[in-house]
Amino acid sequence: MTVHDSSSIVRKRITGHVGFSNLPNQVLRKSVKDGFQLTAMVVGESGLGKSTLINTIFNSTICQPREVPHPAEERPKTVAIENIQADIEENGVKLRLTIVDTPGFGDFVNNSECWDPILQTIEDRYDAYLKQENSVRRMKKVDTRIHACIYFIQPTGHSLKTIDIEFMRRLHDKVNLIPVIAKADTMTEDEVADFKERIVSDLAFNGIRIFQAPIYDDDDDESVGESETIARAIPFAVIGADPTKTIRSPSSGRRIRGRAYPWGVVDVDDPSHCDFILLRRMLVHSHMEALRERTQDVLYETWRTQRMLGMGVIQDHSVFEEVDPAEKAREDRLMHEAKLAKMEAAMKDVFREKVEAQEAKLKQSEVELYARHKEMKEAMTKQWNQLMERKQQLESGAQDPRKKR
Ligand code: GDP
Repeated sequence: MTVHDSSSIVRKRITGHVGFSNLPNQVLRKSVKDGFQLTAMVVGESGLGKSTLINTIFNSTICQPREVPHPAEERPKTVAIENIQADIEENGVKLRLTIVDTPGFGDFVNNSECWDPILQTIEDRYDAYLKQENSVRRMKKVDTRIHACIYFIQPTGHSLKTIDIEFMRRLHDKVNLIPVIAKADTMTEDEVADFKERIVSDLAFNGIRIFQAPIYDDDDDESVGESETIARAIPFAVIGADPTKTIRSPSSGRRIRGRAYPWGVVDVDDPSHCDFILLRRMLVHSHMEALRERTQDVLYETWRTQRMLGMGVIQDHSVFEEVDPAEKAREDRLMHEAKLAKMEAAMKDVFREKVEAQEAKLKQSEVELYARHKEMKEAMTKQWNQLMERKQQLESGAQDPRKKR
């Protein structure tokens, strides 16, 4: 692969079937007008098969095999950043897939800072996007942010190497990390399964958050199965093959993209042989929207907030202004006091409402009590009057002896 500087772009038009044009309908409708844009970065040590995998994804020779420098030759001092852009058109739907290659990663005697140019590229792209957002002229934004970083892990079968952990630890909150086991054909099925488990526990132990592929539960049964299969297969075990040199499958007789060995062939497009097809479908089909959404809503937003804070800038959604730190502290105190006063007033309101309700209740029972008292008094008075009347009758009867008989 030739090494370009960061501004170089290789453009290709690809006609082979990739699979993005049958994206879920709502996603498709949203993006079909303008076409899709996805930028994925591939990172990994030289010789792990990155160029081959890019060519397999695009089904075309986009990356020429890189000349491996002779040990005596002077090597580049930093990791290069190379953009490979391909416009793919499928059933009238356009996809611009940009792959950012990082030749030189891990190739130095001292690799302690080899992630810096990569981190820088990711942040430069966020910066460029932020500038567009803040631009006075509201133009349609060009999104060159990295939506996914495919990180190639050497198929050792052991733990992750220090360089893998250090790289992913520095990048996990900046970009959607998708780890892949390179050259998975060099391991047996069981070794791949064990290595996947090992990688997952190493990542958890080191607090590295890779992209968690969402599992969709739509009406479409086929896509439920697909997103779940994809989510479970991470880290993908991939195998790449030169797309221009197809081989004949001994079982089906068809020409396939694969690798031939004395004992048989591996078909990179067969999901029972490797996870290449799952990785490609994740990028351009099932999780393209999720990758872009997480980039926008979580990774970019977090970066932007930190960036604003670092600049001593407070943000009011679209408008922001620079402030003096002392003034900001005074404003914060005033805001805090205003918040406390508001809370106090709200508590007083609640208290007053409760007292009023209690008073109303008491008044009501007072009225009821008074009515009952009045009723009882009337009944007693009536009874008293009746008794008095009766007494009078008895007394008048006792004074008249005739009445007595
Ligand atoms: P890069 O330096 O990471 O870009 O690696 P390349 O794509 O140039 O591949 C380096 C060598 O590995 C080449 O000889 C490829 O043919 C070979 N290679 C690439 N992918 C695979 C793979 O999946 N399995 C095996 N066994 N070899 C591979």
